[in-house]
Amino acid sequence: MISVDPSGYMRFAFMYGKERPTRRLGKRVAIIGAGPSGLAAAGYLTGKGYDVTVYERLPLPGGIMVFGIPESRIPRERVLRGCRELQETFGVEIKTSCKVTADGEGILGDDLAKETVDLQRVVDEFDATIIATGTWKSRSLPAEGSGLKGIHSALEYLFRSKAHELGLAPKREMIKLGRSVAVVGSGLVAVDAAQEAAGEGRRINLISVENGLDAPSGSYEIDKLKRRGVTHTERTVIKRVLGKTKVEALEVISVNADVKNGVVLRMEQIPGTERVIEDVDSIIVGIGQIPTPPFGKDYREIKTLRWGGIEVNDRYVSPKSRVFATGDVTTGISKVGRAYQTGLKTACWVDRHLRGTA
Ligand SMILES: Cc1cc2nc3c(=O)[nH]c(=O)nc-3n(C[C@H](O)[C@H](O)[C@H](O)COP(=O)(O)OP(=O)(O)OC[C@H]3O[C@@H](n4cnc5c(N)ncnc54)[C@H](O)[C@@H]3O)c2cc1C
Repeated sequence: MISVDPSGYMRFAFMYGKERPTRRLGKRVAIIGAGPSGLAAAGYLTGKGYDVTVYERLPLPGGIMVFGIPESRIPRERVLRGCRELQETFGVEIKTSCKVTADGEGILGDDLAKETVDLQRVVDEFDATIIATGTWKSRSLPAEGSGLKGIHSALEYLFRSKAHELGLAPKREMIKLGRSVAVVGSGLVAVDAAQEAAGEGRRINLISVENGLDAPSGSYEIDKLKRRGVTHTERTVIKRVLGKTKVEALEVISVNADVKNGVVLRMEQIPGTERVIEDVDSIIVGIGQIPTPPFGKDYREIKTLRWGGIEVNDRYVSPKSRVFATGDVTTGISKVGRAYQTGLKTACWVDRHLRGTA
């Protein structure tokens, strides 16, 4: 689904060749969030003749593609070059370091924003607004002792390391891991964190409810980690984190679980299988992300669902007209290709809505 130019960069306006169509409609669309969903929507709409402004709170566009996914999977220069094409060839304005919010609630990475703009101002100023803000909160470890020092979210671990690599944050802000690390989860977030943490002589133990075949990241990714020396403790959950003030060891228990398409449908602990994994000094938790809309629970007529995602209908319009939402903030964490695809679909509906043909 994602269009890659033969020279290797990501194209967000791939349907319009290499030049911006000259026809302009005199209508303005704001997009909040420059991840794959927001950028795909920007590419589609600029070519249709809309003037598009993308608000991004981080100093660079690209979302998780630039600030989470390891370079070995998506080289950041491919994404950034695609963004430059959007700006320089297609006239999209990308306002970086600029957070749009209704309530000022903070999320991971907000310390890199330099400016805050009120959501209502954006909604009033533009003919349509698309919210594409992703899933930047992480689920915490559901185990006794989860308040001990040395427990980190996988996204924060990856984000801090990327921010330093990109020259946006000093080394002291990176998360420091010990020699023996437990990574919890087997989705892409956990796997990416395990891959980043492996090396430098660390022992990594990936602990997950799923076995290698059921892992949401796919058995290929788990096998790749194993080839790097990572241990996979499958069909297991952490019951208690042991330690005085910081992580020292884990009490784990085996589980029976029904898993379908990477989703755990049922799980039960197996009594008598409790055991202790000694000498663990850090835990990275990658067991799920929570949507982060630019407002608290609800905003005017826009509602969030129980799990945090913005409620949209099949046209990606939230109940409030002229406000649309797209990408992982509506679906929960998915994949780059799916976010890109929903961004395009949403942009089609915005276009039809603004032309009065929806
Ligand atoms: C650690 C990690 C690894 C992953 N690995 C893979 C992988 O290998 N392959 C794969 O296909 N998928 C992977 N995924 C999933 C994939 O990255 C996401 O599905 C995809 O990035 C979602 O796109 P999005 O545009 O909805 O959100 P995001 O990529 O999260 O982009 C949202 C953007 O909105 C910005 N933003 C948020 N709030 C505001 C605000 N209030 N104002 C202004 N800007 C704001 C954010 O800074 C961000 O740039 C991974 C996800 C994570 C977390």
